[in-house]
Amino acid sequence: MSIPSVALPSFPTDGAGRPNRRPLAREGIIVRKLGVRPQRTLRHETIIEGPGLLSGRHVRLRLKPAPVNTGHVFVRVDLPNPAVIPARASLVTDTHRRTTLGLLPHGVTLVEHVLSALHGLGLDNCYIEVDGPEPPGLDGSSWSFAEAIRAVGTLPQRARRTIWTVREPLSVHAGSASITFQPAERDELRVSYLLDYGPGSPIEKQRHSLLITPETYFRDLAPCRTFLLENEAYELHRAGVGLHLTPADLLVFGKKGIIDNVPRFPNEPARHKILDILGDFALFGRDIRGHIIACRSGHPLNTELVRRLLDQLPRPRRLMPESTSIPSSMMSANIAASRCRLN
Ligand SMILES: [Zn+2]
Repeated sequence: MSIPSVALPSFPTDGAGRPNRRPLAREGIIVRKLGVRPQRTLRHETIIEGPGLLSGRHVRLRLKPAPVNTGHVFVRVDLPNPAVIPARASLVTDTHRRTTLGLLPHGVTLVEHVLSALHGLGLDNCYIEVDGPEPPGLDGSSWSFAEAIRAVGTLPQRARRTIWTVREPLSVHAGSASITFQPAERDELRVSYLLDYGPGSPIEKQRHSLLITPETYFRDLAPCRTFLLENEAYELHRAGVGLHLTPADLLVFGKKGIIDNVPRFPNEPARHKILDILGDFALFGRDIRGHIIACRSGHPLNTELVRRLLDQLPRPRRLMPESTSIPSSMMSANIAASRCRLN
């Protein structure tokens, strides 16, 4: 979750905060396979709990090992008929300030921080059981998710995962915000972010660039908390959101800087934006290598770029994504219906 302090320049949306999809010129498939690697899951299950960031209601989230080709799958265990919600771009229903999968109240929102930890630490298959409509908010970062995953460890599995890159840059723009996926020059993923909320903003212009590995993710991104402006915090409180939170619980920027808190890095907001990008790119459901370069982008542009990448996959892959083997016993009617719309 991150909240821009300056409204993005106007661009057409579909009413759910997503940019309207302009037809992408198909001058050939621009993605290409770079290689394969063994899939990974958790060694053991682990539980993380605490108040939801939005509701303040206590939530228990259980990360469980999953079979090969499952992908990351949320399971709403608090519902009489547990809803099974695969973490896929085709199931994104809202990207305003956070990423939501499925339709609330049966879906799950603010999925990006836990997905970021799974993606950043190299996990491919995981059940994410949660007894509410949002994961625990914790301190607004991915630290507790990452720490829990590192504590139980991960295991290689007997199936491979394809690594993809692009043959040429693929970009999505909205006004002065943009996100571009550059081809891989070597077998690595780098993410760079320029945060610029304009002159006079209490959040100063900053950037960060990081080669993503499980080690750099854990050390340099996972601790970075979500952030917002003081007036935005007041607005959310007035709307009944995050009533249990104080400025000491998140990074809140007032006119004189951060209120009642100490930054963990001088450019913690820019790092958190990279954390969010990795969470949204988990919705691609496949590994990528290359360089993601983002300027002022948020969840709408991040998820739009993921959709465009999915559009570029060879058609047989699009019809049979690598992450489809959800046990039928876990399928609920709403998700069985939604799978018909998979990219
Ligand atoms: Zn975030």
